[in-house]
Amino acid sequence: FQANRDRVAPLLVRLKSEGIGHMIGGKTVPSVSGQTFETKSPVDGAVLASVARGNADDIDRAATAAATAFKSWREVPAAARKKLLHRVADAIEDHADDIAVLECIDTGQAHRFMAKAAIRAAENFRFFADRCAEARDGLNMPAEEHWNISTRVPIGPVGVITPWNTPFMLSTWKIAPALAAGCTVVHKPAEWSPVTADLLAKLAKQAGLPDGVLNTVHGMGEEAGKALTEHPAIKAIGFVGESSTGSAIMAQGAPTLKRVHFELGGKNPVIVFEDSDLDRALDAVVFMIYSLNGERCTSSSRLLVQESIADKFIEKLTVRVKALKVGHPLDPATEIGPLIHERHLAKVCSYFDVARNDGATIAVGGKPHDGPGGGHYVQPTLVTGAHSKMRVAQEEVFGPFLTVIPFRDEKDAIEIANGVQYGLTGYVWTSDMGRALRVADALEAGMIWLNSENVRHLPTPFGGMKSSGIGRDGGDYSFDFYMETKHVSLAR
Ligand code: NAD
Repeated sequence: FQANRDRVAPLLVRLKSEGIGHMIGGKTVPSVSGQTFETKSPVDGAVLASVARGNADDIDRAATAAATAFKSWREVPAAARKKLLHRVADAIEDHADDIAVLECIDTGQAHRFMAKAAIRAAENFRFFADRCAEARDGLNMPAEEHWNISTRVPIGPVGVITPWNTPFMLSTWKIAPALAAGCTVVHKPAEWSPVTADLLAKLAKQAGLPDGVLNTVHGMGEEAGKALTEHPAIKAIGFVGESSTGSAIMAQGAPTLKRVHFELGGKNPVIVFEDSDLDRALDAVVFMIYSLNGERCTSSSRLLVQESIADKFIEKLTVRVKALKVGHPLDPATEIGPLIHERHLAKVCSYFDVARNDGATIAVGGKPHDGPGGGHYVQPTLVTGAHSKMRVAQEEVFGPFLTVIPFRDEKDAIEIANGVQYGLTGYVWTSDMGRALRVADALEAGMIWLNSENVRHLPTPFGGMKSSGIGRDGGDYSFDFYMETKHVSLAR
């Protein structure tokens, strides 16, 4: 704990004195308007930095810088691009411990989870760096009268708009493939977590990424974010955030025919059948909703448990949830830190009354938590006695809040699981492999794990169905989004 505090202290002093500017064309600059906003720590409300508040003018400067840089970046040979992106990964790894502690203070995420976030971010860069050469690969389709060749070219400057949960790792997941494809980027990070986005832009510059290839404009979604989605030089928007924001972005981008890729909200089911390995299932259930403060798009926020084992399973679960340690995010013992913002804390806490009014039971938690620093802490909460029509079974809470819904049989489980507007992930626990595959086939979700918690494998498709998203990330799926496919036909 003390080592983490010692590490973060000088970083915070520097952050406060320097503030956070935009990174545009390789330079740290203030907003054209001169406006700023304050970013505060969820731990104790301390002002961490004054941040440049971008508007359409700043977006225009950044988009112009990205468009200029695109002309040369797209021509950089794949081997050279690969080398540069590996250097960015090296820089991230060299600063992994700083990134971890800053992310804890800026977002409230517990250090035990953030310690690995920067390493995963570096892996994202390395994975796509190694695929720079194959990004342009197309197909050879000879016909009687023509040679037919397809190839891919980068689409152009793109916008990347990211949320505040695990912001550093998540933004690299979007930015790395865009750069590897040969696109240039304007990144608009979430206004509640600007600190490590600024660090990423600076590390990329230090690593030698040419000016204008990665630009960062801070500010509000409805101001800077909106302007980015409307800018004519920006050819595509990779967006991660709420489903309602995705709808707004689609409308905003319509006049300029933006290509969009959306990773949105979820209300993901974990289905536990009576024949599953209950101890392993229990570990996964606890991990997938109470890690990362439950502020996790892939969290299993609905536990569907078979009636025959429900009482026994809930009893064990109750013991586990009661034992979770809420505390300071820099304390290695902490499992749940403060939530990102007072407005988000209020949203999560509003669901305690929603649960009671719906007639469900709050078996554990149900109150704000009095934690160190007086920050936005909340008790890990377990809601039982719920049925699938209740709001706590339908709406994304995005906190350490689990709703338990018993089911009778396979058919009932599938009906409940699919009975929400979302379709991001699903988790199934059973020892019957035939059933596991049947249920996986029937679930309306983009990603399904059988007898496992969520484990990310970078080449596989990542994304959701229904209100949880449009498009897929990962491996070649990312390149398909950031590139245009071009067909060339030569007469024989
Ligand atoms: P949000 O939609 O409020 O904000 C996300 C980003 O969009 C921010 O940078 C914000 O400034 C910007 N924004 C807001 N309004 C905008 C507009 N009109 N035009 C352009 N940009 C705009 O989401 P949040 O509260 O920051 O993040 C939490 C949400 O993100 C949850 O719903 C969660 O499920 C989702 N999420 C999804 C995934 C996934 O992979 N599916 C991953 C992480 C988070």
